[in-house]
Amino acid sequence: MPIRLLSSEVASQIAAGEVIERPASVVKELMENALDAGAKTISISVDEAGRRLVEVADDGSGIDSEELALSVSRHATSKLVRADDLFHIATLGFRGEALASIGSVSRLTITSRVERSNAGARIRVEGGREGRVESIGAPTGTVVRVEELFYNVPARLKFLKADVTERRAVDALVTRYALAYPHVRVKLSEGGAITLQTSGDGDRRAILAALYGVEVAKQLLEIQAEEDGIKMAGYISPIALTRSNRKDITFFVNGRWVQDTPLTSALVQAYHTLLMVGRYPLAALFIEIAPEEVDVNVHPAKAEVRFRNQDRVFGFVQRAARRGLLAYSPVPSMAP
Ligand code: ADP
Ligand code: MG
Repeated sequence: MPIRLLSSEVASQIAAGEVIERPASVVKELMENALDAGAKTISISVDEAGRRLVEVADDGSGIDSEELALSVSRHATSKLVRADDLFHIATLGFRGEALASIGSVSRLTITSRVERSNAGARIRVEGGREGRVESIGAPTGTVVRVEELFYNVPARLKFLKADVTERRAVDALVTRYALAYPHVRVKLSEGGAITLQTSGDGDRRAILAALYGVEVAKQLLEIQAEEDGIKMAGYISPIALTRSNRKDITFFVNGRWVQDTPLTSALVQAYHTLLMVGRYPLAALFIEIAPEEVDVNVHPAKAEVRFRNQDRVFGFVQRAARRGLLAYSPVPSMAP
């Protein structure tokens, strides 16, 4: 076959595939945008496990009507200017890809108003085709509505799992972000029923109770540590509370949920010899580290990070967890 340039429509669908895999990816990108916009309240509504609808409403800064069309273009971002900025990024987004990606594989509507403007504006994008920006009354903040995800990419639709599985992924994501941002009020409704609602009063244990049940939440040990400018705070399980896999170990680095991270191994090592073989702890840990010590641009979905000095961070996590653990549940010592 001769070599041809892909049409922009096909190219953007391919690029979208890297960022938007399933309804939970839409929820993640939209929640991150709301958090980056300084929202104090975020409401997420999902219908049919997000296949029919994902809507995220926030009371953040809003998007200026003049910039609304730009916000849905690829590589359009207000968060990054120079390549250098990547190494001290303080926002969750920076790639300028989420809205463009979502718009190319769904029917997207964004309604937004900035505080200083007396009218809001709305734009619709269908399968990558942008409509005109209309003026419309709206409260300060942004509502992003994503309907019929992957309606124009049937192959993607086929890869979606059963509704329960997709819904579980959405729940897991929203709950974890709620946990990472306990000062933001988060509400999740699925098929019209509220499935999570946080108070925004900063109480993480109440959110842990929503995630793991009241009994487990009560037993979790609160830990806090700091060493050479790296901070870690959060909750770990006492040795009597274990799981058969590592799925309930959650790490956030600078407010970003990182998955499949070697940090998990550092935590597991902290429990070495204290747990039976094949048993793992539960944890929700929040690490704060200077942005220039982390590379967040490893993965299109931004779910992985690399540390400039891996060993230092791992050592810190392991020691801090071990210390926390021993402080609460002293193991028998060598004393007579
Ligand atoms: P990124 O988050 O990487 O910058 P996005 O495609 O997610 O890229 O968003 C593009 C731009 O649109 C953002 O940089 C931001 O300026 C604006 N934006 C998106 N969502 C919101 C929101 N909920 N509130 C305010 N501004 C938003
Ligand atoms: Mg974004």
